[in-house]
Amino acid sequence: MDSFRVLVVDDEQDFLETLVNRLNKRDMDAIGVLSGERALEEVKKKLFDAIILDIKMPGGMDGIEALREIKRIQPLAEVILLTGHASVETSIEGMKLGAFDYLLKPVKLEDLMMKLAEAFEKKDSHEQKIRKARIKDLMRFPGRVFDQEKEDKK
Ligand SMILES: [Mg+2]
Repeated sequence: MDSFRVLVVDDEQDFLETLVNRLNKRDMDAIGVLSGERALEEVKKKLFDAIILDIKMPGGMDGIEALREIKRIQPLAEVILLTGHASVETSIEGMKLGAFDYLLKPVKLEDLMMKLAEAFEKKDSHEQKIRKARIKDLMRFPGRVFDQEKEDKK
């Protein structure tokens, strides 16, 4: 099985590096970036299963803005927000925008691993539903399947 692909977005470099190392040690394919802008560059290049996103980042783009763009580019990626006690309201706004859940900083690795496992599970069942819908759609129009076979034989 392929490793889960995880993007971590946080402006605190030490935290970012530690977390990315730990995720990679647990057989994930994790990379880290320090800003929302860099996160968008990555989601345009590569599909992610989960994105861990700090809400408070200095500079042009905050976490919520990054979240909006990420969900537009990769609606199936599950986003876990990282937030301080003072910005729980922002996390709620984030969940309304499609984030999977949030965790309070400082984050315990075990809590994050559990949340990631939930996110992977949700993404998997969502993708299964999409596959089933495709199959049902093909069964409604069996001709399409045969047309496709003819195409394949060409
Ligand atoms: Mg921050």
